[in-house]
Amino acid sequence: MIRFQGLNKWFGNALHVLKDIDLDVAKGEVVVVCGPSGSGKSTLIRCVNGLEPFQKGSLTVDGVDLGAKGVALRDLRMEVGFVFQQFNLYPHKTALENVTLAPIHVRGLSKTEAVERGEALLAKVGLADRMNNYPSQLSGGQQQRVAIARSLCMQPKIMLFDEPTSALDPEMITEVLDVMVSLAKEGMTMMVVTHEMGFARKVAHRVVFMDQGAIVESGEPASFFGNPTHDRTRDFLSKVL
Ligand code: ADP
Ligand code: MG
Repeated sequence: MIRFQGLNKWFGNALHVLKDIDLDVAKGEVVVVCGPSGSGKSTLIRCVNGLEPFQKGSLTVDGVDLGAKGVALRDLRMEVGFVFQQFNLYPHKTALENVTLAPIHVRGLSKTEAVERGEALLAKVGLADRMNNYPSQLSGGQQQRVAIARSLCMQPKIMLFDEPTSALDPEMITEVLDVMVSLAKEGMTMMVVTHEMGFARKVAHRVVFMDQGAIVESGEPASFFGNPTHDRTRDFLSKVL
């Protein structure tokens, strides 16, 4: 579903932010990306839905070559959901309106279809009784679950998460991670930037550790956590575990 081959990206001339990235994500695979702040994690996943251009190497997402000229980013983004640390809900729309807006206006669903789908998804993320609330009437954890339902309502093939629980109070982290766990179990292809190593152990097929723009180490959770081979990985894990 996602293939990075020798991908390099610079910001301006000086900042080499992604260095020779090789990474494959298969259909149904859950890949957790971790690493220190500034290591390039956000930039890496932002490349996947075309939010960041790159200068060298290639990236193919669901058969679309993102290095090609005139790529239909709008089509790509319908297939690739993105959940941010800040939930970015529309403040003047209810939870249900937030969820149904893009399916109606971008996917061209009828309002009835979109509402049906949106209600089902909000119920699924535990917000059946909150559909008509505005974001300001919801907790951070509830808002983030609306944001996830909003992405899912487009029926994407891939979901990207960029530190989805980092802005949440500790007691709300689990309710958001639980939604992500069930999504993973349903076979969604996911790339998740997170420091929640419990989540990584539980659902990741692979954990990728980045430092200074490069993938330093990657492996299945058991070997990644049990037997990290690089000093930088060990150092990082000693801080987050
Ligand atoms: P992470 O998500 O791992 O914290 P980022 O991908 O956000 O890292 O950032 C990687 C590096 O790129 C950092 O040095 C950051 O300051 C820099 N950077 C990120 N976005 C931009 C931008 N739009 N313009 C210039 N530099 C940026
Ligand atoms: Mg980041």
